[in-house]
Amino acid sequence: LVVLGIETSCDDTAAAVVRGNGEILSQVVSSQADLLARYGGVAPKMAEEAHSQVIDQVVEQALGKANLTEMDLSAVAVTIGPGLSLCLRVGVRKARKIAGKFNLSMVGVHHMEAHALVARLIERDLQFPFLALLISGGHNLLVLALDLGQYIQLGTTIDDAIGEAYDKTARWLGLDMRRGGGPALEELAQEGDAESIKFSIPMKQHKDCNFSYAGLKTQVRLAIESKKVKAEIPISSASCEDRSSRADIAASFQRVAVLHLEERCDRAIEWALKIQPSIKYLVVSGGVASNKYVRTRLNQIVKKKGLQLVCPPPSLCTDNGVMVAWTGIEHFRLGRFDPPPPANEPDDSVFDLRPRWPLGEEYAEGRSEAR
Ligand code: ATP
Ligand code: FE
Repeated sequence: LVVLGIETSCDDTAAAVVRGNGEILSQVVSSQADLLARYGGVAPKMAEEAHSQVIDQVVEQALGKANLTEMDLSAVAVTIGPGLSLCLRVGVRKARKIAGKFNLSMVGVHHMEAHALVARLIERDLQFPFLALLISGGHNLLVLALDLGQYIQLGTTIDDAIGEAYDKTARWLGLDMRRGGGPALEELAQEGDAESIKFSIPMKQHKDCNFSYAGLKTQVRLAIESKKVKAEIPISSASCEDRSSRADIAASFQRVAVLHLEERCDRAIEWALKIQPSIKYLVVSGGVASNKYVRTRLNQIVKKKGLQLVCPPPSLCTDNGVMVAWTGIEHFRLGRFDPPPPANEPDDSVFDLRPRWPLGEEYAEGRSEAR
């Protein structure tokens, strides 16, 4: 079994070829971080164009590096949601073109399920059920994975995701956004005093597993104003004193952003064990899971609760084609795939895209406990 995975849901164009046994034959990512740094965010039309420009080349490279041609593939897996429909379309169109031409089955993949399931490629002992914390640019999810395609959502964000808060804070602090705000902020935070500013932990009074990062963003904004940080000057040219103020803000922000995760995970583990006492693992994935501080702190919580943490390597935490190919493999094995699309399908055909696509049912008791 050999599957090509294609991912274009947000700002990375990615493709990978993975074998049924989990062997990664190739992995290619073309990032739009440069564009984002220049324009300050994802504009759907611009992102779509960027995907369209590189998609053929990214897929070609993935096949080339794997030393395979389309004829060697068993199926094509592609992210069909959630995400920006203009962007999703680029990947889906490409996937259908290949599948149509070479008579291959297709698997439509849920982006967040892929973030979670890639952990099963890394850790072969990771069986269902398990708990997963998915932290990225657009999502903050705590889900109980009961089985393939079967999830209970224990918590989600009521406003922004943690990755969005990292990106905004990094931008406000004048950091170099070309590598992404998260990594730049993580690095600067190492120089700062995390106790210097006492930001309050979000939603302390809500005894549930939901998240909120909008309030923390506002607190950061106010701290930047009151410390008179000259964020219009890039950090590389900042004075010593200014740099150290920025580092203090970065470290204090990171500490509280992660404390919020810790508190929610602690509770989610208790909830999850009540529903499924056999749970042994907490999976942490999504772009923010590549952060070392996040990993270290969550590992402590997980150990204290007698569970084990599974966190994919950074290249599999941020958006990638491997997770899509692997999730395709998992579904394919259970016979959950679509037949090959017609060959030479017109480009403007209507595809099954799911820009808004919840991962599983909301946990009803969680809702009532929250009140
Ligand atoms: P989603 O998965 O919600 O659709 P996305 O696909 O854009 O969003 P990912 O690629 O999964 O997101 O994650 C990107 C996010 O991860 C960005 O917000 C980025 O700042 C953040 N991130 C990446 N590396 C780090 C890091 N080292 N520390 C903190 N945040 C990070
Ligand atoms: Fe993602």
